[in-house]
Amino acid sequence: MVLFAQRVRSIEPSPTVHIGDLIAEMKARGEKVLSLAIGEPDFPTPAHIVDAAKKALDADFTKYTPAPGIRELREAVAEKSQKENRIPAKPENVLVAPTKHTLFMTCMALLDRGDEAIIPDPGWVSYAPMVTLASARPVPIQAADDERFVPSADAVAEAITPHTRLLLLNSPSNPAGSVYSRAETKALADLAADHDLIVVSDEIYEKILYEGEHVSPASLDGMFDRTVTVNGFSKTYSMTGWRLGWLVAPAPLFKEISKVQEHTITCATAFAQKAGVAALRGPTAPLQAMVKEFRARRDVVLKELAKIDVLSTFRPNGAFYVFPRTDVKIDSATLCERILKEASVAVTPGSAFGAAGEGHIRISYAASRETILEGLQRIAEVVARL
Ligand code: PMP
Ligand code: GLU
Repeated sequence: MVLFAQRVRSIEPSPTVHIGDLIAEMKARGEKVLSLAIGEPDFPTPAHIVDAAKKALDADFTKYTPAPGIRELREAVAEKSQKENRIPAKPENVLVAPTKHTLFMTCMALLDRGDEAIIPDPGWVSYAPMVTLASARPVPIQAADDERFVPSADAVAEAITPHTRLLLLNSPSNPAGSVYSRAETKALADLAADHDLIVVSDEIYEKILYEGEHVSPASLDGMFDRTVTVNGFSKTYSMTGWRLGWLVAPAPLFKEISKVQEHTITCATAFAQKAGVAALRGPTAPLQAMVKEFRARRDVVLKELAKIDVLSTFRPNGAFYVFPRTDVKIDSATLCERILKEASVAVTPGSAFGAAGEGHIRISYAASRETILEGLQRIAEVVARL
């Protein structure tokens, strides 16, 4: 009998990754399934980015790079962070790695057994398992529909104990597409400063924004020194398979997190980093066109949902998700199973995102308008039978 470590026995496989794999298998078997499940842009990676990688491959840019990333990319990220996010980052503060891995390394570098990390609930499926893998305790802050699922400073204040080390924030958010206001961000940042916490700000949906402003906590007065900002190429440039992102951290945190990088992945893929430079320095037209289309699709989803009595939602201002409440008598996992079995439409149960997500489903509109319209119509038919 193999005995597995407590840390892996304490976590479950990723529900979003699992559903994605399942849909891919079903499609490979020739089954017709409409996917409104996975959070992955359905656009090609822009050609100038692909070309940069091809050029790098042809030039044999296929070896180890410096562990924190190639200089040009660290410079491009620092410049972007300064200009667009008002984060006082230098290239020396930038560590290049897959976004998911930046979060994991941050947890590994900052958390010990007995420590607590505050995470949003509902929140992205991997926050709690990453904290658990670092032997610490995730503390979910439940937020409700009428708060747009943004964790309130009051609820966070109540959850802080002498063991709290991290406060994880995510705007625009997964699964609800909520955008934290400047006031909400500031109130949360002030709490972190008052209680000497490190803020981990997951800004991967930064550019998928329709209304409101994106506020980076690290740009607020005095916050740079206690904030790890995480971002990446997956969503903004439709580069999920390239496995490329970055974190920005003040020198003392950067130094410790880098050790985890050096002993795990060494560096990010060399030629992908060249593509990253092209993405940050290249034309923004493909991104603008994608966001315009996402906005139009969001409006289509909202219009269709308004016709379904038992599915109600506020208007999300970012990301490519809506997270409607389901006024039905079955739990969200059973509902999603029935929607998949009876209508061949894949959506994600709200319970995957934490206890506060129960009674909701996540609809990803990173899918064609036809898929969205047909998928929502079929969902309407299933819920009408309940
Ligand atoms: N944060 C959030 C909120 C996400 O939804 C995702 C999933 N893409 C990630 C981080 C991880 O991103 P990546 O796939 O680029 O590692
Ligand atoms: N983040 C995306 C999602 O929530 C992709 C899968 C994952 O990494 O969780 O669907």
